[in-house]
Parts: sequence; structure tokens; C-alpha cells
Amino acid sequence: MELIDLNPSGGIGANALYLQIGPFRIVVDAGIHPKLKGREALPNWQATLRDPLDLIVLTHCHLDHLGAIPLLAKDHPATPVVMSPASHLLFPRMLQNSVSIMRRQRSELGTPLFSRREVEATRGQAVPLHPRQPRFYSSDKGEQMTLTLFEAGHIPGTCGVMFEYRHRKIFHTSDVLFEDQCILSAARFPREKVDTLIMETTRGATERPSGSSRESEIERLLETIRNTVSHGGSVLIPAFALGRMQELLAIFHLAKENREFPDVPLYVSGLGLDLVDYFDQISRGGGNLHFRRRVLKDLGAQRLPESHKAGSEGPAIYLVSSGMMVAHTPSYNTAASLLGNHRNAICFVGYCDPDTPGGELLQTRQGERYLFEAIDRIEPVKAHIDKFDLSSHANREDLLEFACELDPRAIVLTHGDQPARDWFREQLSERLPDAKVFDPQPLKRILV
Ligand SMILES: [Zn+2]
Ligand SMILES: [Zn+2]
Repeated sequence: MELIDLNPSGGIGANALYLQIGPFRIVVDAGIHPKLKGREALPNWQATLRDPLDLIVLTHCHLDHLGAIPLLAKDHPATPVVMSPASHLLFPRMLQNSVSIMRRQRSELGTPLFSRREVEATRGQAVPLHPRQPRFYSSDKGEQMTLTLFEAGHIPGTCGVMFEYRHRKIFHTSDVLFEDQCILSAARFPREKVDTLIMETTRGATERPSGSSRESEIERLLETIRNTVSHGGSVLIPAFALGRMQELLAIFHLAKENREFPDVPLYVSGLGLDLVDYFDQISRGGGNLHFRRRVLKDLGAQRLPESHKAGSEGPAIYLVSSGMMVAHTPSYNTAASLLGNHRNAICFVGYCDPDTPGGELLQTRQGERYLFEAIDRIEPVKAHIDKFDLSSHANREDLLEFACELDPRAIVLTHGDQPARDWFREQLSERLPDAKVFDPQPLKRILV
């Protein structure tokens, strides 16, 4: 097999992998780098333009996997874009949101990378494929390849991919979680020998403190919310719109049923609120997602009004995007209102890149001043700032265990910063001394 990591800056960002398996030419994912602008944010798929692609596979709808798919599909208009039925439902909504943001921030981001028309064209190429149902592909010369999707946990719709060609098995984990979440079952991956394993490495450099678990982190979050509200404060939870926001709604719903959730206004925002309807629809089709729209009603959740000044009407809970408190989003504006009062709390529940406003706030000490640059406002850090580990990526130990079970001859490390990849490389060489571990350099063709 030939493989090229098409993500020009390495690490996690514009995720895209080119695979040539026998005569079959495939690209798995085409994302955009969240911190780069315009064409700089795209994968470099120059090497794939020589001949048509046989397949494009989308593992899930996070923008670091999906964001550039319309452009890749446009370069290969006859190539099917294969994905799970849930992703098939979600991806146009996610891309339309990207178009809206690109249009709104044209002066900052430059010309939009694609339009709604191109999103519609991608929809025409998209092919839903049910997990665990093999699909056969034939080459011009009659050679066969099988592709099978497997639920990967992580966020709704996410699937790992098995390619089988001439008795060779190649498995790609996508982004994966081996633990159940409140709304989504853990990964259901095959546990059989494969020849090549392509694996994400996101949490390779993250050690979970002993004694801490998903359950204990949820308990700590609920306790922080109850404490803050009972002392007259408000709570901001910056959350990613796709997956995380609905997971927290379900957690709050359960807590409310157990009388462990305070009876104060709960505000939610934008895209995450729209996605509630999509999740409800996906859940009704069966499968690994368990979410109902009625949690919003049961919780009395309200859409955050544009003019609302956070904390001005007594204690409230704000479950709003974006997760990293990116400028001009509801979480950024809400933080500006809440930060200067010691009664309030800001609870981060996902990864925050150190260069984002959320990441910067996490590095600012109590009492120091924090600059909300985009709205020209400075506030002292008086609110309680905390971080809760509810990651939707597998613990490194779980991933390592999975790799050992599959006992591959070759392992390709992807989707991780260098220290994370280094940890896996070291551990794998110890645990699987006969396996060859590849850490592909961006845009370099390797033979696996
Ligand atoms: Zn993801
Ligand atoms: Zn990812």
C-alpha cells in the first residue's frame, strides 16, 4: 500500500490521507485547519490529481475531517463520497454553517473557500453506507476491494474503516472513543488480526490523573454548577455544537430527573440547538445514538437572545458555543460578562488550543487581567475557571490495548501532535516489537 499524509502542517489540522491499495486510489477525509485561514487551511491533494480517485471516505463531520470535502469532491466530480447514514444527514448542515461563517467573516478570512452550490454538489456525490455492511468495489481490470464501516464512538456518525484487498486488511480508526457517553455507545470495532493499522494518537501525551474517570468528572462538573448557582452566580460552559452540547444536555437531563440539577434558566445557542433536531432524527433510526429532542423541553432550555447580558437577571446556566471561546461567538461574549465577578464560574469541557481565547483564559491566573480583544474589553479574572476531562477521544491506554489486539504488521500514526505520536511509537515498539511503526512526514509518499 502507498500512503501520503496530505495534511501539510502535520499534527492535527487539515486531516486527509491518500491511500493506494492495489489499483484503488482513495482519500480518507479532507478537513480544514482550525487555526489557519483561506487556502492555507486546506490539505494539499496535488498528488491525487494525476488520475481520478476511486473513493473518498468521510469518517465524521468534525471540520478538521469534513471542512475541505466540497473542494476535493469538486476536483473529482465522478468519485463517490462514502460515509455513515448519520454523517450523510449531518454533513450538509455543518458545511452550510461553514459557508455562513466564511461569508460573514469575509474581511478577516478572505474569499469563502466554497459556496452553498458546492455543498449541494457534494450532496449529489455522497453515498450513505450502514456500519458493518461490506460494500464491494471493482477496478477496471476486475480486481476487487471491500470497504466496511464500524461505529467509532467519538461523535454521532463517526466510523472507522476496514479495507480488504487480496486477503490484506487495512483498518483506519478515525477519531475513536472506547467508552460509552451518555448519548453515544462506545466504539464497536473488529478485534481481529489486520495487516496495517492506521490510528489516531490525539491523547498520546495526556495522562489521566489516577482516580479520575468520566463519571467522576461529570459529578465534579454538576457539583460546580450547583455550588455556583446556590451562591448566586452564573455558569458558562463553552461547548462544541456537534456532539458535546447534546451530550451535556443529556447529562443535565439525567441530573434533573435525579434532582441534582438547579432550577435556574438554562440558555443554549445556535448551531448546537439546530443539531438537536438532527440527533433526534438519527436516534429514531436505531443505531448507537440515544438522544431525544424533548430533553430541551424537560430542561426548559431557551435560545440565548442576542441582546441578553449574561448574569444580569440572576443566576443562569449558559451552555453555548464555541468550545474554545473563539471571538464573536456566544461563549466569548458571555465570558466577557461573567469573568469579572467571583460568584460566577466558567467550565471548559473539551480541548482548548493554547492559542485560542479559551486556551489563553485557562493560562491566566486569578486576579490577572484578561483582554477580550475582539470587543475591546478588559476584565479581571475573578470568576472560578475550571477544566473537566470529558474528552471524546480514547485514552492512550485503551488505544494501545486495541492496537495490541489487532497485532498488525505495520502501524501508521496520524491525528496527533508530535509528543503524542512519540509516546505511541515508543510504547508500540515495546509491546509489538515485530510491527513496523510509521510516523509519516507531511506530503511524503511512503510504502507500507
Ligand atoms: Zn473528531
Ligand atoms: Zn479529528
